[in-house]
Amino acid sequence: MRPTINLLIWLIAFILVNVTGSLYFWFGRDAEAKSLRYRWYLVFDGLFLLAVLTMLLPPRSLLPVMMIPVVVVVIVYNLRTTTFCPRCARMVKRGFRASGECPRCGGKV
Ligand SMILES: [Zn+2]
Repeated sequence: MRPTINLLIWLIAFILVNVTGSLYFWFGRDAEAKSLRYRWYLVFDGLFLLAVLTMLLPPRSLLPVMMIPVVVVVIVYNLRTTTFCPRCARMVKRGFRASGECPRCGGKV
């Protein structure tokens, strides 16, 4: 019974971290601060995901260890393809294009 409650608390915390992080990075108004915090948020979120996976799976499961490279690739991908509009601070997923246009204000990102 106790491990189930602990797991539930970790899952709720994980969901809260992701929801609040997404709201901040989509709607926050300071592009420079968001850009600096985004990389730390991704690292924290990746580690949090690995921790929750470790708790979800049976002891000695190798899946969390095997997920480390996947988490690293996802973090690098998000860092490379996400930028923040300097004019309106919107988070812009621009893919692998070198530059793009902000969908909100039309500024160059
Ligand atoms: Zn913009």
